[in-house]
Amino acid sequence: ALGEHRPLIRMDKVPAISKGGKGGLLTAQEVPTEILDLTKPPAIKYGRGRFLGKGGFAKCYEVIPDKGDTALACKIVHKNMLVKEHHREKMAQEIMIHRTLNHPNVVAFHSYFDDDFFVYIVLELCEKKSLMELSKRRRTITEPEARYFLRQICEAVRYLHEEKKIIHRDLKLGNIFISSSMDLKVGDFGLATQLDRDGLRKRTMCGTPNYIAPEVLSKTGHGFEVDIWSVGCILYTLLIGRPPFETESLKETYRKIKAGDFAIPKSNLSPQAKKLIQRLLQVDPLRRPTAREILMDDFIMKCFIPDSLPVSSLTMAPRFP
Ligand code: ADP
Repeated sequence: ALGEHRPLIRMDKVPAISKGGKGGLLTAQEVPTEILDLTKPPAIKYGRGRFLGKGGFAKCYEVIPDKGDTALACKIVHKNMLVKEHHREKMAQEIMIHRTLNHPNVVAFHSYFDDDFFVYIVLELCEKKSLMELSKRRRTITEPEARYFLRQICEAVRYLHEEKKIIHRDLKLGNIFISSSMDLKVGDFGLATQLDRDGLRKRTMCGTPNYIAPEVLSKTGHGFEVDIWSVGCILYTLLIGRPPFETESLKETYRKIKAGDFAIPKSNLSPQAKKLIQRLLQVDPLRRPTAREILMDDFIMKCFIPDSLPVSSLTMAPRFP
């Protein structure tokens, strides 16, 4: 039917909304142990499994559909968290963007639905957590591993930028998930935006990305290049063991970002790695390479990349033949 106006997240059963006043917040409501998707027949029943983690809004659980045996991840958001229209819009935006994506290096989107109390987003399960846990455990990783990861991140970013005109805007270690086969999956599209026309730049954004680019701080308009900046920060952090612009205060960090003031400490980093980091972390967004160009960089093209990584790389450096 033309123009479906049913809102993506219905709040009619949430007392705070139906009463039209405050003070009517739902009483504490536990996440159910059986989750029902009644969106369309046949109904799908999921059994709730182990707790995977929690973020600002969502709790994430492993879930098992009653038919089929592949475990999935389910992000569950209590509607109490969505009383503000603006939070509902952001959640709807995340769903609308994520549901259109289909790429081996992007967390697969299975379905979304809601009941009176919760919104559910069913996603591909990433069993090995994220690059954040890996980086904390290992502190630094070897260059072949960094190349293996960087190539997959850039495949995802190239897909988002070129094929979908989507800027992720919050690429960071914690948003890059790891599958059971040690493949990377970009996730969390909570700050993502889709450009309606090529080159039309975004002026504002709400939310503060972790690896924020200088042009976002100076509010001069930003585009796809902010993701490339983040990729530079990710590569730096994986290889050096700390973020490039880390200081004692946020103000000082922002000053350094706007000045492009970072140092590559004395290390046995290859010249190719140093050169690529410098290309990525340029203050002028137009000088940064595109995701496609990173994939053609010497660091990727002229150096050894393993075909796969052993699961043991989560805790210790692999030895390459
Ligand atoms: P945030 O609110 O910080 O963006 P999320 O709500 O996306 O975080 O997810 C909360 C936590 O759930 C994450 O930190 C992660 O540990 C876990 N998680 C999210 N998505 C998945 C997934 N697809 N597979 C496995 N774990 C996940």
